[in-house]
Amino acid sequence: MSTSTAPDTSLRLNAALQLLQLAGHELPDGLAAGSQAWLQAVIDGLCELSSRDALTGLANRRQFELTLAREIDRVARAGEPALVLMADVDHFKKVNDTYGHPAGDQVLKAVAQALLDCVRPMDTVARFGGEEFAIILPNCPAAFGQTVAERIRRKVELKSINVAAGASSGVDVSVTISLGGAFAPQWVRSSAALWVERADRQLYLAKTTGRNRACLEQPAVSQVSAEEKGMLFGTSQFQDLFE
Ligand code: GH3
Ligand code: MG
Ligand code: MG
Repeated sequence: MSTSTAPDTSLRLNAALQLLQLAGHELPDGLAAGSQAWLQAVIDGLCELSSRDALTGLANRRQFELTLAREIDRVARAGEPALVLMADVDHFKKVNDTYGHPAGDQVLKAVAQALLDCVRPMDTVARFGGEEFAIILPNCPAAFGQTVAERIRRKVELKSINVAAGASSGVDVSVTISLGGAFAPQWVRSSAALWVERADRQLYLAKTTGRNRACLEQPAVSQVSAEEKGMLFGTSQFQDLFE
């Protein structure tokens, strides 16, 4: 008589739970381990983890590409103007070389926060890789592009970042960024790669013409009324847009 072993259908979640714990991701209280709701919370936690950059907490490259694809759909369907900005920290290697890699990490975190401080909740700020960031601004009329990019550039330039440096109590560092931007062609289904490539070309221009500047591809600038400005950026945080 042969004895067949039943297939092991139990879930092996130890590695997943360890990852969540390591990332400081808490599961909601009161869920029975193994229940459907608990399992859903574990899956949600893993999704969140796989879409974030571990150092800065920003959206990661994968999440950026997903969001960009969705935005291209919207622009093609609804004709809404949308801007992509690519930002790269100027002479960042010097920061690492002078203060060390951990200090460089602190600077990247501070730059990430500065970018977040400048945009609306509907915008996506992502770490594209290394010391390069990408921002998707849906519903951003051409007339606002340069203003938004300039606001971001200045915010970073004016930020004083206290980094630990050896045994001393810390040192204040400041950095600048160069930005390149391109609008999605409205009513046309472009590709994510082409859109980013156009923004990248502008970033290259910003780098080669002196750094610490924002270069945007110039679409036909439409006239935007004061009422429209109020609808789009109607909080005091964005006061500079009204000036
Ligand atoms: P440029 O103005 O032309 O952009 O000069 P750069 O020095 O910023 O550019 P480069 O590409 O020469 O150097 C980028 C540096 O960024 C090199 C790399 O070690 C550093 N870097 C990339 N990722 C990280 C990170 O996660 N942490 C730290 N501390 N450094 C990083
Ligand atoms: Mg750089
Ligand atoms: Mg770079």
